[in-house]
Amino acid sequence: MIEAANYCNHSRDRHIVIIGNGISGITCARTIRKRDHHAKITIISGESQHFYSRTALMYLYMGHMRYENVKPYEDFFWEKNRFSLIHDWVTKVDLAEKKLFFKQSTDITYDILIIATGSIPKKFGWKGEELSGVQGFYGLQDLNEMEVNTKDIKHATVVGGGLIGIELCEMLHSRDISVTFLVKDKHFWGSVLPEEEGSLVDRHIREHGVDLRLSTTMEAMEGEGNGKVSRIKTDKGETINTQFVGLAIGVTPNVALFQNTSLEIETGVLVDPYFRTNIPNVFAIGDCAEFREKPDENRKNIEQVWYTGRMHGETLGYNLTSDKAHTYQPGVWFNSAKFFDIEYQTYGKVPATLEEKMGSFYWEHPNGKIGFRITFDAKTQAILGVNALGLRVSHEFFDCAINNQWKINKVMARLNEADFDPEFFDSHITSILQAYNHRFGTQITHKKLSFWSRLTGTSL
Ligand SMILES: Cc1cc2nc3c(=O)[nH]c(=O)nc-3n(C[C@H](O)[C@H](O)[C@H](O)COP(=O)(O)OP(=O)(O)OC[C@H]3O[C@@H](n4cnc5c(N)ncnc54)[C@H](O)[C@@H]3O)c2cc1C
Repeated sequence: MIEAANYCNHSRDRHIVIIGNGISGITCARTIRKRDHHAKITIISGESQHFYSRTALMYLYMGHMRYENVKPYEDFFWEKNRFSLIHDWVTKVDLAEKKLFFKQSTDITYDILIIATGSIPKKFGWKGEELSGVQGFYGLQDLNEMEVNTKDIKHATVVGGGLIGIELCEMLHSRDISVTFLVKDKHFWGSVLPEEEGSLVDRHIREHGVDLRLSTTMEAMEGEGNGKVSRIKTDKGETINTQFVGLAIGVTPNVALFQNTSLEIETGVLVDPYFRTNIPNVFAIGDCAEFREKPDENRKNIEQVWYTGRMHGETLGYNLTSDKAHTYQPGVWFNSAKFFDIEYQTYGKVPATLEEKMGSFYWEHPNGKIGFRITFDAKTQAILGVNALGLRVSHEFFDCAINNQWKINKVMARLNEADFDPEFFDSHITSILQAYNHRFGTQITHKKLSFWSRLTGTSL
């Protein structure tokens, strides 16, 4: 904990400028405004006038939602809370003069600068990447481009077997466009999912009619001379005719604006646990920030998910408005996603390849669509993490179990408390326990839960 005086400019009429109106920038702005009614707060974004939910972009393309539905706040919210919005691109930053320059708007000065510029899709440098019909997928401009690029096409290719790759497959599939999905690993999301979970998702992807090609990478994209992509070549020597290529090989911090400035950058903007950069009164949060040291041994230096952006924003917003500054405390890692119809949740540590001294128990439903894994420390038996696919488990339960290092047998004995499937869904907890008892020779039974403890989770 450090004193405010050592943290930043706390003057009453300070001008706080945030570049980026994503979840991290907006959460920070809201946290500051709740606690400081005087500061002038300016939020800048070249992408959109207002904050919207990036995670819902796919549903706009699929027609499940309209743009108005993905804006968490009404348009009057910003003025009511005295946020000045600048819808423009910052083109240059003068860190010595504390000044920002824009593509169109007049330059402004700041007292405190918060960099929340998010990520950009990675590019690999493939031959043909510049052809029209080849694109990444990150923001509203990409969504518009995709509308144009996929109009009346019959076939698309998606490259990159991760979360955005599978979203692109689902989006294209929803418009009856046949899809080839190139995944370089032996199974889907090979850098994150263990083989069983990855294979479960592979089957599901194929059931939806997607032409999934595992252990396959793209060599080049080619056109017919009209500047449009018309085929790709794979490392297996195949040629696939296609009219669209979605590149989804990951994202990287969006820091181009600060190259060749005195701001220290590695892959992202380097920050300490208080989100301070090397320049006084300049902070970085969200996807674009890179911790000089991991916030926890099980976390990464760069965190690029929605809820961590929110937590970064909250922590910094609090620190900028209090007498004492606190370090970022991320807690137990979690994440969730949906792979076509299969929901996925993960808590704690479940690496793609089991580490030495790590035990693991995996159960899969005979229908091959539901899977559950627990990892634990082979020596102490303490639970390390959980993967759930096709069934819902309680975040609160596993947060508590992992934080308190419950032994695996205790977790299994209380697994019925983790059952979070909606009412009238089949529960798989008993089958999981039976399989566990069979594998480890235990005779664990579930204790009966009262209606009240089920309702309130008080037995935790
Ligand atoms: C398609 C997609 C689906 C996703 N789904 C999930 C999910 O299901 N769950 C999950 O946890 N995470 C998901 N993510 C990741 C999550 O959305 C990001 O981690 C999060 O949005 C990052 O928030 P941020 O505030 O750091 O940056 P961003 O949301 O990227 O916001 C940064 C903003 O800064 C603006 N900006 C950048 N540079 C400038 C400049 N020079 N001038 C002006 N403005 C600038 C950008 O235009 C952008 O609007 C998804 C990401 C994508 C792309």
